[in-house]
Amino acid sequence: MKNTIKVETPVFDTLTLKGQIIRKLLDKHQVLAINIMASPGAGKTSLILKLIESLKNKFRIAVIEGDIVPIDVEKIQKQQIPVVLAHTGGACHLDSVMMEKALKKLKLNELDLLLVENVGNLICPASFYLGTHKNIVIASVPEGDDKPYKYPTMFKGADLVVLNKIDHLEHDNFDLQNFIAGVSALDPKIEIIKVSARNGLGIAEIVDWIKLQSKNNGK
Ligand code: MG
Ligand code: ZN
Repeated sequence: MKNTIKVETPVFDTLTLKGQIIRKLLDKHQVLAINIMASPGAGKTSLILKLIESLKNKFRIAVIEGDIVPIDVEKIQKQQIPVVLAHTGGACHLDSVMMEKALKKLKLNELDLLLVENVGNLICPASFYLGTHKNIVIASVPEGDDKPYKYPTMFKGADLVVLNKIDHLEHDNFDLQNFIAGVSALDPKIEIIKVSARNGLGIAEIVDWIKLQSKNNGK
């Protein structure tokens, strides 16, 4: 196993370095970038669409979609904002090389906010620094309340945890207190916002959170 580590460490360092270069580029253009991570079906694209609706009068927004097919890209395009497919080549996460390629297709001097939809996966996206300022991790009620316990690295790295599909709470056997305790045990500073991307509940709170991050220049 030692050989594997020897080979992979320099690659990882290169990616981290590239992430740092991306961050400098984003800061230079005063673009706040948010990395949105979740398992498949938790509601990343639905949430992004809701956020665009609420924020597009205040911010010049673009979206990067980490995917292999343009299904979500086409949904975003309907909102008349710039959207780029960061083709992952089938990889289960975005990395800074993919991010760099996608950024070249955007005019950063014409943007204020960049929303990055990572690949649907609760494991490895957390380990790849993209140069983004903040991480939002979305969990959803039908997935169960044990997710922070099963995927601690992902939740620990979150600046904001969004609990989506909260309208399912009464039907599903979801222990809200257990979920909140799981997140808080990893880091008590992580904010949790309960939303329903379907009926719009809680979206205003995320909008306020994003406005605050923008005011603080992503720090
Ligand atoms: Mg999606
Ligand atoms: Zn991966």
